[in-house]
This record gives sequence, C-alpha cells and structure tokens, in this order.
Amino acid sequence: MKVLVAVKRVIDPNVKVRVKADESGVETANVKMAMNPFDEIGVEEAIRMREAGTAEEVVAVSIGAQQVQETIRTALAMGADRGIHINTDADIQPLAAAKLLKAVIEKEQPQVVILGKQAVDDDAGQTGQMLAALLGWSQATFASKIALGDGEAEVTREIDGGLETIKTQLPVVVTTDLRLNEPRYASLPNIMKAKKKPIEETSPADLGVDPAPRLTLVKVVEPPKRQAGIKVETVAELVDKLKNEAKVI
Ligand code: AMP
Repeated sequence: MKVLVAVKRVIDPNVKVRVKADESGVETANVKMAMNPFDEIGVEEAIRMREAGTAEEVVAVSIGAQQVQETIRTALAMGADRGIHINTDADIQPLAAAKLLKAVIEKEQPQVVILGKQAVDDDAGQTGQMLAALLGWSQATFASKIALGDGEAEVTREIDGGLETIKTQLPVVVTTDLRLNEPRYASLPNIMKAKKKPIEETSPADLGVDPAPRLTLVKVVEPPKRQAGIKVETVAELVDKLKNEAKVI
C-alpha cells in the first residue's frame, strides 16, 4: 500500500511574522521557512505505517516555487521514499492545492493520503476536506490516532470535550492533529541519504489544473497592540484600581 503525504513550506512557527507595510500580506523575504508542523506529523505517521509493515511506500508532495524542494528533502530525510514537486510561482489557495493534489493522487493511486489539519501560515484548514470531496473519498479529519485494517481505517478524532472514533473505508484522506505523534528529527546520515532520493517535477499545466486564485485577499493587519501592565504595591491598591479605574468590581 502506498501513502501520500502533502507537505507545505511555511514561515517557521518560531519566527515573529511581520505584516507588509501595504497590508497586502506578510513579509516572506529573508524569513526562515520550515515544514508546516502538522505536515511533519503527517510524514512521521506515514513512516510509522511503513515501519509497521502496513505501507510499502511513502511519497511526499509539495506545491510551490523551487524552494519547496527543501521541504520535500526534509520529508525524505525523515524517511519518505520519494518526492513530487508541483512547481508553480502562483499563490496557491486551498481549492487549487486540493485540485493539484487530486491530479497527482489519480496518477499515484495511494490508499491513504495524509494532510495537516491546517497550514499555520493561512490557517485555512480546508484543503483536506476539499480534496476528499473532489476525489469522492472518505475523510477523517483532526486525527489523533490512526489504525489501519484490511481495506479500512479506524481513526480517533479530537472533538470538543473528548475523542470520537470513526471507521472509514480506504482510500481515505486523513488530516493530522497535534497529538497524533511526535515527529522524529532527521539524523545526519539520513539527511545525506535523502540527497540521493528522487524528486519528480511536474506543474499545474502538466496536471491540467488552473491554479489561479478564486479568492481576493482584502488586507492583512497586525492584531491591536496590548497595553503594558503595571505593578501594584498592595492588595488595597489593586482593589481600588479594579473598582475605580477598571470598574470591574
Ligand atoms: P490549509 O487548508 O491551507 O490550512 O492546509 C491544510 C493542509 O493541506 C496542509 O497542512 C498541507 O498538508 C496541505 N497543503 C496546503 N497547501 C499545500 C501546498 N502548497 N503544498 C503541499 N501541501 C499543501
């Protein structure tokens, strides 16, 4: 069985994001990039499936400009077998990502496709659901546990106030939640080995998909600045301020 994992290159979550002065988006020039954390969890899960013998091959796919090959290499260094790069400079919105992934999936015929529950750059949380709908496949979103059986998968999902376990038919699109696993770090020998693993290049045109944006971004603004706090000397002073300044008691 083949597992396909989507990996998106995003601004490193440890970097402080800055909004562009013209409010057209966030600054990405000279900013450290990394694999979307939910996709690292997806790669880890796929590799564990192969290690457990339930999967034979793990394919990592990324959509974007030439630099997304670094993200694919990271997946290969973690243990994925090969990569597919859908090369485009276009701004890829979730619907376009879902259509492009669908085209690759129709060629590759995996039984399990793993995406992150959301990309931490746009926080859309849409691609997995759209992809399952376009393919007409089962979907299991926000997975915190995946157990593969014969032609089916049992997936535990994090929902408000608890866990829900569902059984789905294969093929299935699964999206990862934070507690699914803890992704491994790539070891130096594996980083070296990953350099020799193949990355196939394709494009939206090759796949017959028009990736043009369907949504218009109006503006991006910084959240309002929080006012600095103050230290009070006594409890009496605190009570006085709560009563007379904040007027909350
Ligand atoms: P989103 O719907 O944008 O929050 O993204 C959800 C998931 O879809 C991500 O965690 C990725 O697994 C996948 N995805 C979205 N955009 C891309 C992309 N450009 N390349 C690869 N995977 C993507």
